[in-house]
Amino acid sequence: MEPLVRGASELGISLRDHHLAAFAACHEALVTWNQRFNLTAITDWEAVLIRHFLDSLSCLRAIHQQELAAGARVVDVGTGAGYPGIPLKIVCPGMRLTLVEATRKKVTFLEHLIGELGLKDVRAIHARAEQLGQDPAHRERYDWAVARAVGKMPTLVEYLLPLVAVGGSTLSQKGQDAPAEVQEAAYAISTLGGEVRQLVPVELRGLAETRYLVVVDKVASTPVKYPRRPGVPDKHPLLP
Ligand code: SAM
Repeated sequence: MEPLVRGASELGISLRDHHLAAFAACHEALVTWNQRFNLTAITDWEAVLIRHFLDSLSCLRAIHQQELAAGARVVDVGTGAGYPGIPLKIVCPGMRLTLVEATRKKVTFLEHLIGELGLKDVRAIHARAEQLGQDPAHRERYDWAVARAVGKMPTLVEYLLPLVAVGGSTLSQKGQDAPAEVQEAAYAISTLGGEVRQLVPVELRGLAETRYLVVVDKVASTPVKYPRRPGVPDKHPLLP
């Protein structure tokens, strides 16, 4: 656990014994289920600590821990095996978390994990972001929409921005290409009611490459025709 504890401390997060027990349980479930379902290519202990747990926690460089702890409504789109949502929930138990995932077997894993960790105020939904974005129970209902490794920015903002209430924000975890991707997404962002607030570079202990947190604020309602039908934002991203 040492690389996780030190890396988290460098991000200003102090991990206690109960957090470490939860992360250990998370790793065990991931490795066990991965033997039957292909959940992740990363299962090596140290790699999971850095590339899944610590990388997820790095979102707290852009989102205040106190805001999450105070009950912020967060949706994690294309969460896969629960990243970045589950590590954030472990550290900020007060947040109200919705995990959205298009693959049924991953949702089954998430339901198991939520029970195993005894997490409250977390739901895992089997759906595509495009469906939820047009569902009144989810459209413009969240304070934050977060995602990691789900799509290029012009596509991703069409998944995320419709879910966020005006005054809320989206956070996309990105690699080296973040600045170029954000430029490419300028038209999509303004069309969907967003405004880029900041790109936060993140250096993680044990990772050579720079990661970026792209924060986009929701400044106006998203026009009703967005998001478009499932698959369309990916096939035909909103470009000028
Ligand atoms: N966010 C996780 C992570 O960083 O480990 C998983 C990343 S994985 C590469 C992308 C996930 O997004 C897949 O599990 C896929 O099923 C899901 N996904 C892709 N498009 C989606 C959509 N439109 N709605 C919901 N889930 C989606």
